[in-house]
Parts: sequence; structure tokens; C-alpha cells
Amino acid sequence: MNAAWRAFTGELARWQEAGRAIEFWWRDDDAAKPTPALTRLLALAQASGTPLALAVIPHQAEAEIFARLDPGVAVLQHGSDHRNRAAAGEKKTEYPAAETAAAAVARLVAARSRLSALAGPRLLPVLAPPWNRLPKTHAPQLAAAGFRGLSQYGVRAAMQLAPGLAQVNTHVDLIDWRGQRGFAGEEAVLAAAVKHLAAKREGRADPLEATGWLSHHAVHDEAAWNFLEQLFQTARKHAPAGLRWVGAQELFHIS
Ligand SMILES: [Zn+2]
Repeated sequence: MNAAWRAFTGELARWQEAGRAIEFWWRDDDAAKPTPALTRLLALAQASGTPLALAVIPHQAEAEIFARLDPGVAVLQHGSDHRNRAAAGEKKTEYPAAETAAAAVARLVAARSRLSALAGPRLLPVLAPPWNRLPKTHAPQLAAAGFRGLSQYGVRAAMQLAPGLAQVNTHVDLIDWRGQRGFAGEEAVLAAAVKHLAAKREGRADPLEATGWLSHHAVHDEAAWNFLEQLFQTARKHAPAGLRWVGAQELFHIS
């Protein structure tokens, strides 16, 4: 075991010593078409028994992908069309600051209809916006439109963003977007996990927010796939000490 994995399992041990249960969850973004990478992702989820929250792009989704999903896979809504509408100087987003909440949410509701027709009951009313970006001001309208959850990146600001709208984010990104757009490396990825776990343990982050691992199957290199396998194996070893992967339905309180 190298230093990065030792630091990670050391943090898991500190939770165990404190008698606290660790909760992880797994979100994978940008599903749309049946590709070898998606097949590999679903096979890995099944083989490892890890609940997967698959964020699907509504207007790019092909019906075929839903026929292959196990019951253990939940579908989240990954925006509408994944088109960047950012104004000059704005970071990439489907929901630019200039767009009203009503217009953004109307677009999301239309996209949800298409996705719902394809995905059926596997679709949860949870939005994972592309690039993890959505103006905070849209939360009440999202809730009013029937969304029950929002998932972005980083420690959540609040458990409920609006009445009935739960936030559960991801905190560990496997991909190095600024560099090679491949696996970010064990050191960086595990350090991000340790950082979130330690912050929760020490009361610097909401201790009730499950630590979210974010993958993007379409850009995984071998190192990323190998890492996920090793992560699931390591997690399994710590299951008797209370580590568990939480499914999206439970996470967002959807029955
Ligand atoms: Zn995306």
C-alpha cells in the first residue's frame, strides 16, 4: 500500500476508533449513449455491488441505455442538453446568471419529461447540473417544479436548499480536468477524500453529508478504472466497521 492509500485507510480507522459510521455515495456523469465505457461502468457497479447514481443528459439520452440498467442504478437528471450558455467572463454553465429562474426551470421540466419517458421509475427527481453549476436563487422554483434533490460539488451549504429540496454533493473528483482529462492520480483523489472526511470528523463540514465520489466514465483511462476497483475493494474491507455506500433514493429521502 502506498502513502496515499495509507493516509486514506488511516482516516477510515480514525472514524472507526471514534465509533462513527462512514457513508459514501457514487455519482457518474454524462451518460447518454451506449458506449463500451458505459458498459464497463455498469459492469463494475454490478460486480462490486456498489449503488450507482447515473447522471444522464436528457436531450442526448438514447433509449437503449436504460434497458441495461440494474435495479441498483438510480438515474439523476444531468441538466437538459449540456450546452454551455455562459456569457463572456462566466464559467461554463447551462444556467447563465442572465437567465431567469423561471426560464431555466421550464427548460429542466421539459427535459425531465423526455428523460422520464425513457428511464421510467428509475429516474429520481434529482438534478445534477452540468459543470455542477446552478444559481442558488433557482432553488425555490426547482422545489416548486417537483425536484426533490440537487447535487453539485463541494461541501453543501445546507441540507435543505428550499422546502422539500435536499442537497447532497460530491466531494471527490476522479478526473484532472485542467490537465490531461484523465485520472487525477491516487494522491490527489484520496487527499480530497481524506480532506472531506477529516473536515466532517472535526466538525468543519456538515457531518451528515455522505462523501460523494464523482466519476465520468467517458473519459476514464485504465488508471481511473483500476482506482475505482481498488476503492470498492477497500470499502468492502471496512464494511464490518460501518462503512457503507448509500443509494441515491435513501440519500435524497425519496421513497
Ligand atoms: Zn457533465
